[in-house]
Amino acid sequence: MKRSPLHTAAANAPDYVRAIAPYVGGKPIDEVARELDLDPATIIKLASNENPRGASPKVQAAIAAALGDLTRYPDGNGYALKAALASRLRVAPEQIVLGNGSNDVLELVTQAFLRPGDDALYSQYAFIVYPLATQARGARGIEVAAKDHGHDLDAMLAAITGNTRVVFIANPNNPTGTWLAGDVVERFISAVPRDVIVVLDEAYDEFLDPSERTPSTAWISRYPNLVVSHTFSKAHGLAALRVGYGVMDAAIADLLNRVRQPFNVNSLAQTAALAALEDTQYVEDSRVLNREGRRQLEAGLQALRLRYLPSRGNFVLFEAGDAMAVYQALLRQGVIVRPVANYGLPAWLRVTVGTAQENERFLASLARSVAASSDPLRAH
Ligand SMILES: *Cc1c(COP(=O)(O)O)cnc(C)c1O
Repeated sequence: MKRSPLHTAAANAPDYVRAIAPYVGGKPIDEVARELDLDPATIIKLASNENPRGASPKVQAAIAAALGDLTRYPDGNGYALKAALASRLRVAPEQIVLGNGSNDVLELVTQAFLRPGDDALYSQYAFIVYPLATQARGARGIEVAAKDHGHDLDAMLAAITGNTRVVFIANPNNPTGTWLAGDVVERFISAVPRDVIVVLDEAYDEFLDPSERTPSTAWISRYPNLVVSHTFSKAHGLAALRVGYGVMDAAIADLLNRVRQPFNVNSLAQTAALAALEDTQYVEDSRVLNREGRRQLEAGLQALRLRYLPSRGNFVLFEAGDAMAVYQALLRQGVIVRPVANYGLPAWLRVTVGTAQENERFLASLARSVAASSDPLRAH
């Protein structure tokens, strides 16, 4: 049989796969060092919402103690970690699905519930993994216009149709840092039809003021269509190890467990997550450091008369005018932040809250970058 030159293996992939725009993460320190001929030790990365403190010493000790066991497969059911999470959250272990990062849990929801022709709903400016994971299943992503850069829950409710299978809510949201109070979120969930999965992504929950935190996992008994996702990548400082989890009705968890890889969370990640969960002081100190650092960044942005969105996360989104020029100027000074043009925000940059020293260096570099870049947008 004669094949046309266009009939290559790659061309046989579904159109919806070939149309995916690959995820672009924060630029790694070594890459910036190579490209700009800088000493990696002098570069600061404030581009991926990582914890600037390094992993807790207790976690590092737990990992060191586990190194003798690398030859065995992990516990595919994550018994110890699930038991600890279940007792902490007052749910049954059967209600927990562990993921290779909480990103994995988001993917698993789309794998279990979306097929070509189905719809998933998310907000404009919401975490970009929602459209990516939706598209990878050949499902249709419906983006609902944001209100003040945050989720417009009324509009999202109105956008639900008989075709909607999954709704994603990020609270707080990345990259905007916007946040919805618990009662508002619960009212939304209670109004969503029970045959539509609601994913409540709380990756930044630990950074909230304790008075603002919501016991959202307690809602699951009332709303069996609710999936709450959490991660160890942000406040717990374990982004390198890839571990997160979802809490949900046991029947939903059973479905996600069927589509996941049998050993999707590696042994060191499970060990580290267990130790991180017990080190509550590390998380509390991280929250306080973040609150102070966020204030420092916001005050600095104000002083530069740059507009920013008040944030509940460990990052701040600010308007930088010619954002790519500012981004490049920061890179040349060894400061990595995150462009967000792929979110439809080409004039904005996102900076992660670092240590006080890192924040100070970022602000000083930003002042120089803004002065050098052509006529940036000024607010007020
Ligand atoms: C960082 C982030 C995640 C997940 O990160 P993992 O490292 O995969 O756990 C999920 N949701 C949002 C909104 C995030 O910003």
